[in-house]
Amino acid sequence: RTLSVTPDTSFERIFGIETEYGLSVTGEKSATEGAKHGETKLDAARVASVMFEPVVAQSRSTNTYADNGSRLYLDVGAHPEYATAEARTVSDAVLLDAAGENLMAALAHGAERALQEREGEPDLRVHMYKNNADSQGHSFGCHENYLVRRSVSLRELEKCFIPFLVTRQIFAGAGTFRDGEYQISQRADFLDDTISSATTRSRPMINTRDEPHADSRLYRRLHVIVGDSNRSQRATWMKMMTAHLVLCMLEAQSRGEDYRLGVFAMNEPGFHMKKISRDLDFRYRIPLSGGVEVSAIQIQREYCDAAELFLQRHADELKPDMREDAAVCVQLWRRTLSQCEARDWTALASWVDWVAKYQLISGAVRRGASEAKGLQLDFAYHDIAHDTVFSALQSRGFVQALYSMDAVRRARHEAPRGTRAELRGEFLRLARQSPARWSADWTSLSAAPAQETRAVTAHILDPFSVEKTSEYEAVCAVLRGGRGEDPMLPLI
Ligand code: ATP
Ligand code: MG
Ligand code: MG
Repeated sequence: RTLSVTPDTSFERIFGIETEYGLSVTGEKSATEGAKHGETKLDAARVASVMFEPVVAQSRSTNTYADNGSRLYLDVGAHPEYATAEARTVSDAVLLDAAGENLMAALAHGAERALQEREGEPDLRVHMYKNNADSQGHSFGCHENYLVRRSVSLRELEKCFIPFLVTRQIFAGAGTFRDGEYQISQRADFLDDTISSATTRSRPMINTRDEPHADSRLYRRLHVIVGDSNRSQRATWMKMMTAHLVLCMLEAQSRGEDYRLGVFAMNEPGFHMKKISRDLDFRYRIPLSGGVEVSAIQIQREYCDAAELFLQRHADELKPDMREDAAVCVQLWRRTLSQCEARDWTALASWVDWVAKYQLISGAVRRGASEAKGLQLDFAYHDIAHDTVFSALQSRGFVQALYSMDAVRRARHEAPRGTRAELRGEFLRLARQSPARWSADWTSLSAAPAQETRAVTAHILDPFSVEKTSEYEAVCAVLRGGRGEDPMLPLI
């Protein structure tokens, strides 16, 4: 299907979250000696490969897609990753990310049982951390993906979006306790340049590698790598909803409107990000390029005001669910900034990860806990496999989840509505029961009958399209061509 190149002037967007997880093992009897020197017998890469055994059994690969259209993979090393399917609302992206968490926990539990048995280590525990740095100080990411119209230039993004990203940590940060010091952001210390296409040599806040997974004449896929992984679903939601609204304003600006977002351009944003990350009571003032000094709260408040203006002008152009979400977001954004200003930690701790965790750790330290215990609590907060800390905060009502466990479990097997992920989801359901060989990526689906080498391919380049084209029907027909004798049970 050829796509029209008429510019898309809607404020529709595609959202995706990639989450990398960290692994560790405790409780090995035979490692007690070595553990004194910080060694364990099983390295994380080995645990990761055991974790992926059931995935490989089902998909013949460590790089595959789950029933809901999300990508599950293990690169070299020991950081399994779940990249959510394309979501049309932030709410869907948050639910899919939670589904990924649930799947990763299940895989970790499976690996734990397998390793206990094989290694004769009944006390062995596999921990899986949804955080952004391991105990050796290596950082790994949580990438946000936003489809953005090409009319927005990289120059504008740098001027208008980076100051937002640098300061949003005050509510989006996951907190970290490192070298005896508590910080707001897990990632701040690991990033330098602002915008770059390289991620190996430098660590940019936005990665511009041009892989839009869509018509490149219309869209870019903005790849934001500056954010923390959040445990709080509300925090993930706010992090992406506020970013969405800023991007809407940038798109509107590229069509001639003005939201005055460029006034916050700053030199050395990476430096200020590190400063803000250490400024637990929000006193730091950022010198702007124009000579004035402003606080992170002030900058966020200006973005929030501008977003309100955007909604006054454009709310009618948003789909009803997005319009409602946007109104909720702006209201909570404003309230949160006032709570930051009032240092109302109790209110903030109900969904802001870094505050909730800070209260836990500082409380423990006040009661005499050691620094080592504080560090342990920090990791425990992010452990999704042995989730004792964060789940207790939720079950006691200190932190509110957006989705029930039932909804999250269902979302492991249901693709989000209204994007090409629906097509991928159906394709995968058929593929699991078919003897045909198949493969998929973000923009195509292929299948070949068992005896044949030539595959049939359907292109799904438009992420907003759920149209079942003849190409798509042809691929599904190959999968339906013969049912396997022994259909595999859906696992992922
Ligand atoms: P990595 O950073 O791991 O090297 P990557 O960022 O290129 O890889 P994936 O890990 O495959 O990519 O994840 C891609 C993410 O982008 C997914 O969450 C997916 O839903 C999302 N996505 C796919 N197409 C689009 C699009 N057109 N616009 C925005 N997001 C998209
Ligand atoms: Mg990825
Ligand atoms: Mg990525």
